[in-house]
Amino acid sequence: MTTNRPADRPARAAGLPVGVIGGGLGGLAAACTLAARGHGVILFEKNPWLGGKAAVLEQKGFRFDMGPTILTLPRVLERIFAEAGQDMHQVLDLRRLDPQWRCFFDDGSRLDLHENVQRMASNIAAFAPGSQRGFGDFMQLAEKLHEVSEKFFFWRSVEDIGDTLDLKKNFDLTTLRDVLSLRIGATVAGTIRRRVRDGRVAQMLDHFVQYVGSSPYNSPAVLCGIAHMQTNGGVWYPMGGTRAVPQALQTLAGELGVDLRPRTGIRRILSDHGRVSGVETDTGETIRLAAVVSNMDSIRTYRELVGGTPAATFGRRWKSEPACSGVVLYLGLDRTYEQLAHHDFVFSADPKEEFDWIYRKGEPAPDPTCYIAAPARTDPSVAPPGGDAIYVLVHTPYLRPHHDWRRMLPEYRRVIFDKLGRCAGMRDLEKHIVFEAALTPADIHERYQVLDGAIYGLASHGRFFGAFKPGNRSRDLKGLYLAGGAAHPGPGMPMVLMSGWIAADSLDNDLTTAPQPTDQVTA
Ligand SMILES: Cc1cc2nc3c(=O)[nH]c(=O)nc-3n(C[C@H](O)[C@H](O)[C@H](O)COP(=O)(O)OP(=O)(O)OC[C@H]3O[C@@H](n4cnc5c(N)ncnc54)[C@H](O)[C@@H]3O)c2cc1C
Repeated sequence: MTTNRPADRPARAAGLPVGVIGGGLGGLAAACTLAARGHGVILFEKNPWLGGKAAVLEQKGFRFDMGPTILTLPRVLERIFAEAGQDMHQVLDLRRLDPQWRCFFDDGSRLDLHENVQRMASNIAAFAPGSQRGFGDFMQLAEKLHEVSEKFFFWRSVEDIGDTLDLKKNFDLTTLRDVLSLRIGATVAGTIRRRVRDGRVAQMLDHFVQYVGSSPYNSPAVLCGIAHMQTNGGVWYPMGGTRAVPQALQTLAGELGVDLRPRTGIRRILSDHGRVSGVETDTGETIRLAAVVSNMDSIRTYRELVGGTPAATFGRRWKSEPACSGVVLYLGLDRTYEQLAHHDFVFSADPKEEFDWIYRKGEPAPDPTCYIAAPARTDPSVAPPGGDAIYVLVHTPYLRPHHDWRRMLPEYRRVIFDKLGRCAGMRDLEKHIVFEAALTPADIHERYQVLDGAIYGLASHGRFFGAFKPGNRSRDLKGLYLAGGAAHPGPGMPMVLMSGWIAADSLDNDLTTAPQPTDQVTA
């Protein structure tokens, strides 16, 4: 394979390689970008597979994506492939899904979320007369907020407001308008409910912030921009499953010469005179490196791998709350449910109460919202003929010390089955199961080495600064960069891919402008 490595970025094979800790989507994106720019790259992953949460489960003729199932903003992935001069569409067969979600409400009503805003507004006019105008207003605001995010937050390392706005230098009327449009101090739920009267439509819109595992009642209004990112950019399914994404990145990394080391955990990041100098593996091997991108959870990276003064200064700035966790049921069935679309939400009766259980009380909600992925509608290869591979995800609180999911799972499984029977017409579900597996918050914690079982890194809570995450270029240790759901710009497939790109871009720029460390430096 040939790559279009820009001529002004010569291969840096002569210097020390750079390291990437963790082979999740953020780590893979960073490794590919760095290798495409000519760096020697070693990627360390403690698990036997690459892709992190984007893992796959294959059993008895069924195939399940174990983690992410909804792919949005594929242009982020396109940009990573473009770094290597490749067209992503040559290696991934992406199918655009419309309706994007099917919504089942507790009162028995149903509403499909379509990507076309005008079509959606007329469907809402029929479904909840009087709410279409508010929906239109909300989508206009979402578009503006998405535009502001693109301008101030995306594609660069950001940790706080000072990284986005230089008020002394750039302050003008346009910036003032952008700042005002952020509705600073308003929450997602408040912003929605000020416009949309119908509780069901509001509940559907609330769920865009479930992509970041946070309560719409505590999240800043800027996150309403996610609605426009999805309706405008589309919801996509990679044929072969979401798993096809890390597989394509792994192939790209291999072609670019990344030294991929699965089954290699890292227990320390080594530093010398305030600068990263290498890593120590779980088996005690030390490897000298010019710089490191950590795709491990950012809080745990500092606490467990860095320590000392950098961890203390980072810890003073980031006393962060984990995002939510979740329970996933993987159900191989000998029948299909015609009422299901590819992506479905079976909503709770009372969203405020549900979010209060998950995010304030810290206990699983007694009446949860269940998300169902039923990908056989797009990709029949996920189940044997006549069968179905159903994935059910319910968000739960991050792990608390008293949560014992071995004891809690059987009881909560019952709650989930009752909900699906009552609200999605799946009363005979249990009779048709031929294969069943589950993932609990405790499993998520163990498998992916995250913070208290969090699926989506750090919660985006806080009316003013909830959208900020630790920046991709460390302020506390030179030569350390962060990628993944617990770093800027946050969780979800497109954002972690972007975080990997930003970490790599920052590292590349820093090494280009500073003299490279060589083998002569002592630890
Ligand atoms: C059930 C579930 C459903 C989801 N649904 C969606 C969805 O529909 N759409 C969406 O966009 N997002 C979804 N997400 C979120 C999305 O999967 C994540 O935001 C994203 O995959 C996280 O990528 P990451 O780069 O942060 O790393 P992770 O996937 O967390 O990977 C980090 C990797 O680092 C490795 N690692 C950690 N510490 C070390 C160490 N010390 N040494 C070596 N290796 C280490 C881990 O083993 C892991 O492989 C979902 C997640 C889950 C779990």
